[in-house]
Amino acid sequence: MMFDTTRTTGGFGDPLPESGILEGFDRLIAANRLFGAELNPTVIKKSGKGAPFLVCPHPSRSRMLDLWHDLFANRVPPHGFLDALAPEVLGLAHVEGLLLFGKDRVLYDCQIARGDEAVGHLTLCFYREREPVFRFLPFPRRPGRRIVYIEGISLTAQSTGYASSLFRRYERLFHDLGFHRFRLKASLSVGKYYWAKEGFDCEDREQFAGMRESLHALVRRLGLPVEEQEIRRLNHASMVAAFRRDLPIPVYRNAEGYYAVERDASHAEEFRFPLGKAFLLCSAPWDGFKVIYTDTPRRTGYVGSDRYLDHGTRPGHVESPKRLEALFAAIREGGMGESLILLEPYVPAMESLRAVHDPAYLEAFREAVDRGDRQFAVRDCSISKGTYAAALLAAGGVMAGIDAVFSDRADNVFCAVRPPGHHAGRASAMGFCFLNNVAAGAHYARSAYGVGRIYILDWDVHHGNGTQALFEEDPLTFFCSLHEHPSFCYPGTGRRLEKGTGAGRGATLNIPLPPHAGDTEMIEAFERDVVPSIEAFRPELILLSAGFDAHRDDPIAELECTEDAYVHMTRRVLELADRHCEGRVVSVLEGGYRMESLVSSAIAHIRTLQGREVPPCSSARG
Ligand SMILES: [Zn+2]
Repeated sequence: MMFDTTRTTGGFGDPLPESGILEGFDRLIAANRLFGAELNPTVIKKSGKGAPFLVCPHPSRSRMLDLWHDLFANRVPPHGFLDALAPEVLGLAHVEGLLLFGKDRVLYDCQIARGDEAVGHLTLCFYREREPVFRFLPFPRRPGRRIVYIEGISLTAQSTGYASSLFRRYERLFHDLGFHRFRLKASLSVGKYYWAKEGFDCEDREQFAGMRESLHALVRRLGLPVEEQEIRRLNHASMVAAFRRDLPIPVYRNAEGYYAVERDASHAEEFRFPLGKAFLLCSAPWDGFKVIYTDTPRRTGYVGSDRYLDHGTRPGHVESPKRLEALFAAIREGGMGESLILLEPYVPAMESLRAVHDPAYLEAFREAVDRGDRQFAVRDCSISKGTYAAALLAAGGVMAGIDAVFSDRADNVFCAVRPPGHHAGRASAMGFCFLNNVAAGAHYARSAYGVGRIYILDWDVHHGNGTQALFEEDPLTFFCSLHEHPSFCYPGTGRRLEKGTGAGRGATLNIPLPPHAGDTEMIEAFERDVVPSIEAFRPELILLSAGFDAHRDDPIAELECTEDAYVHMTRRVLELADRHCEGRVVSVLEGGYRMESLVSSAIAHIRTLQGREVPPCSSARG
């Protein structure tokens, strides 16, 4: 893992004298290769396009020196750095490479060319995160992790493997320059290479064979309970990265956050990583490298309204306004609201609700509320004066979410709505549900945006019987539910043999889990059954019925999941959505009845929707 100084100019050993750095600036200025950069305030950043900037005169030499020292510790001269960034790979070279100095960052911008022909463009951004010493005070701040961010790469020549090769070199270069992260878009797809979540894809069969052989060796060395044929079946780097997540093996982290497979004086802090991930860390060129995150922020929309608190339930009812009060407060206090795109729920047109519910049922519901009844249809469907309006707004909240992903206002959306909806049928209220919010959203997406295939994934601990019934004959709306087995859990439906009816046969998938199943069983079932069904269905939109009552702390069911399962499923759904439907996921809150676990699970889910990191809850809790 030591840096091979013969491969780039300007060896990254001791810091260079300032005069050497200044001389490098002057050389580049004279050659018209060094400028300043200003963010362009008139252009709104659009996803996938990178942050637009304007080239301007370079800042003073002392400011550039400060920045260079902060980012590169003067271990590389400016001209040497430009050379190191532009290796010729697979017959493609960088031309017109520029260094641009922004206020707190350095940008690298170039054209990619094959011979005389420009075939692409690359922009990298180097900066340092600032971490406040005290979380809630604006300062002092200390310098944080150094990050390389790919602002944008485009190539007209597809399927060349160019980006894979270039980034593998970059990974080593930036590691040796002391960078902590090399970030790229999870959805970045260049040529035939699709980025594996925790590592880079490999370029050819030979490299992949090497990867698999190292995995064999690791399994043998650690005596892990993995069968030969399990490894033989793997045929893609992403499969290695996702391999045997139930089998954590120890790796060791140093103070800088780099990992190694062996404990030594500096790599002392033990972590347990799933086998696939640990393997990627220990196979070349990851040896001793930090995990490379692909956590590019996504634009996540958020639907929430105080009007949802107007739906009151009788004292002691678990589905109380306190659930959302707690979640709203956590989002406010954590400053999360600032990173979310706030979306206003609206009262939907009645005709869009009539696509889901009988007009007479809607009318009876409104009348019961108007009369001041205390419950509607069944005893657990407790109502108050504000219930009807809140229910309309919950369905309309999902529609606002649909609008946002189809008008490109947001990449994905979380709808913090209540009352919940997935037990509500065409003319039936039950299980705290009156209007089926997700179903109303699906119908709306179809009528307003002409969406064809819609995949609804329901991971609430209870079977989404209402949603299933509404779509069981519809081959274009796939309904999949992960839930506690109906023999043990409300509402008593959702057996494997319920697979849809008529033309919709095969478009319903029920995955019951036995009582006390936890993250491992949930994730296994998800990987085994849910992922292939999404892949096969190729949805144009994914809707989530996101209940968080499968959590081990939740009082009304017996599954023992943690936030980790929700994070895992959310990440995977996003990957699949990236592949099939431009990342369009609208997630809708269903159950979750213990405040602490509801809040922590929903926050972990939202952060993951945003493409942000969520520390595993096993390590967060020690
Ligand atoms: Zn539930």
